[in-house]
Amino acid sequence: MKAELDAALVRDFPLLYGDRHAPARQTCMCWGFECGDGWEPLIRDLSAKLEAAIAALPADEQPNYRASQVKEKFGTLRFYLTCGTDEMYDLINAAEGLSAQTCEGCGQPGSVRSGGWIVTNCDECAAKRGH
Ligand SMILES: [Zn+2]
Repeated sequence: MKAELDAALVRDFPLLYGDRHAPARQTCMCWGFECGDGWEPLIRDLSAKLEAAIAALPADEQPNYRASQVKEKFGTLRFYLTCGTDEMYDLINAAEGLSAQTCEGCGQPGSVRSGGWIVTNCDECAAKRGH
């Protein structure tokens, strides 16, 4: 993901992404958001809901709930937390499901494409990749 989109997410959701710049031995968030820009709106929407859910917890518990890795795997979004509630995991499942219908390149409606590396693309971005 583009550096400015990454920085904006970290700035807007300080509880959720509190470990973004922590050392690699502590968190995979040090690698940033390992997916295309097309999923930024989806991640932003999920982040806003998770940030609100974390903010609703007692202050001393909030630091336990942080994103630990955000990446693409087998064509869909994978979003990991250090710790989460059922509500948080439901939100994550919904966003991961949506990523299978959202082009990772540009955010247009898309579908999972096979052929070598599995990605979720719209027709246009798939054509550019030669599929
Ligand atoms: Zn596309």
